[in-house]
This record gives sequence, structure tokens and C-alpha cells, in this order.
Amino acid sequence: MTSALDPELRRALVDRIRFYHELGIYDLYRRGPGPSGEGALIAEATADGLSIAPPSSAATRSELREEMAARKSPVVSNTAEDSIVEMVSSKPEYEVADPAVALKLIREDLGDCTRCKLHQQGRKQIVFGVGNPQAELMFVGEGPGADEDAQGEPFVGRAGQLLNNMIKAMGLRREDVYIANIVKCRPPGNRQPERDECETCSPFLMRQIAAIKPKVIVALGATAAKNLLAINAPMSELRGRWYDFRPAGVRSRDLSWPGARLAVTYHPAFLLRDPRQKGEAWKDLQMVMKYLGIEPPKKPVD
Ligand code: SF4
Repeated sequence: MTSALDPELRRALVDRIRFYHELGIYDLYRRGPGPSGEGALIAEATADGLSIAPPSSAATRSELREEMAARKSPVVSNTAEDSIVEMVSSKPEYEVADPAVALKLIREDLGDCTRCKLHQQGRKQIVFGVGNPQAELMFVGEGPGADEDAQGEPFVGRAGQLLNNMIKAMGLRREDVYIANIVKCRPPGNRQPERDECETCSPFLMRQIAAIKPKVIVALGATAAKNLLAINAPMSELRGRWYDFRPAGVRSRDLSWPGARLAVTYHPAFLLRDPRQKGEAWKDLQMVMKYLGIEPPKKPVD
């Protein structure tokens, strides 16, 4: 059914659903298709939730476009447009309270994923994420590299060693935090993940975030920041401030979770290439430590 929608309308619909999720509306139902036979997925607010009904007129589309243009809040992430129905439906982890079990269910749901083209571009294995399922602090990078692909764990190469040092400098251990990436399969040649790959994979990251309910997410590098925040800006503008973040398209089982605060810093791989920026990264981490109430150690990032 969704394939009958034109791309602009699909994008508008995804945006509308995100909008309702931001309002805390998750209970959705779908009406049957309208007489026009056109898709049955235009969202309308009702007192008790959201009904999904056929687009009735060009005015409706116009209104949707207007709303899209007006909403520039950097608090939601991209999600796969092809997963509209999946996005609004219940997830297996919604039924469990234990974040470790929830993560296991999400991993099972991901399966031997072939949802985007990265599955056939040389990946050895899916790199799901690692760390404390109840972490207050979560790091999100771009995607696995060769070492991560080989070992099945994010940030285990040279950049991972530097991330470990950064975590240690904060007075924490790697096991205290949770580490994941925007895409879970290695892009060939360590290229940046492409937009369709990020949009297809990120719903699973959103579900991981909703299960873990971190207080703070640190986006490592511009690719992670832009995908999480759905804004396009240089690192100089992205860094040095807080963003309110709620994972788009999913809900946390804990309705009292207010969402995370998100900060942006340099990717460790970039810091290896330009160590002069380590001082700037340390400032970002100090901002995070202050918010989390972690006493700042004297020693900055090595
Ligand atoms: S990158 Fe994500 S969506 Fe693409 S194949 Fe791997 S796990 Fe699936």
C-alpha cells in the first residue's frame, strides 16, 4: 500500500507521524482505503490518538508541506520512509522492562539484516552495539570500520582505543557506557554511510536508545550528529551546545523518561588525524561530565 504513495506525500506522512510522536501520541489505527483508492495513510489527530485516513484534497498536502517547513526542531532523527507502518506499530521490546532483554529482542528483530545495500558490500558481520544496557551515557559513531567488522564490536581499532581513553579521562569505564553506530554494517572502503543506508538502519538505533534511556548521548562526528539531529550544519556550529533528543518513531517503555540530552564532539578517528583538536573534544566531554555530575579529573584526553 505504501508503495502507491508519491515520494513527497510519503515524506510528509513520515514527518506527520514524527510530529505526533513528539506530542506523545503513539496509539494509532488505520482506516480502510478511501473511495479514490489513493493511499490510506494520511494522519489526522483525534481526541484519543491518531487516525490514519486517505488524503482528501490538495489542501491537505499543502497543509502538510507547510507544517514540514515550519518544524525545524533538531530533536528527531531520520527514519526509513519505507518503514512507515512498521514504525508506528508495536515492537517486541515494548513489553519488557529489562533493558538488557529489550536489547536482545531488538537484536533478534534485526536478524541477519538485508534491509539496505550494505549487507552485500562486504560486511563480515553486523555490529550491533556494546556496553551497559542501563548506561547513563551513550556514544554514537558513524559506522563500523575494518576492525569493528572483524570483531563485531564498535570502536575497537585505533579510534576505539582513543575513545576508551576519552571515557577513562572522564572517570568512567568502557563497560559503564553504551556504544553504537548510525549504521551497523561496514561501508566499503570506510566510506561515509549514504543517506538511504542511514535512514534504513537508524530505526534500530532509535529502538536501542529508547530501551537504554540514556541521560546523555554524545554524537561522535558530523555524520552521527547530522543523522541523529536531522540538521545539516558544520561541526563548528554543532558542537558546544545541548540538544533535546527523543528517538523518533519509537517510544520508551518508561513513559517517564524525558528523553536524552545530546552533545556533539569530534570523531576519535578525526582526532587521530588532527590531535590539536583534542583540547576541544575535552571541552565537550567536560560539558557532559558537568551535566552528569561527574567530577572532572585533572588529566585531559591523551
Ligand atoms: S546497515 Fe543496518 S539496515 Fe543496512 S544491512 Fe546492516 S543492519 Fe541492515
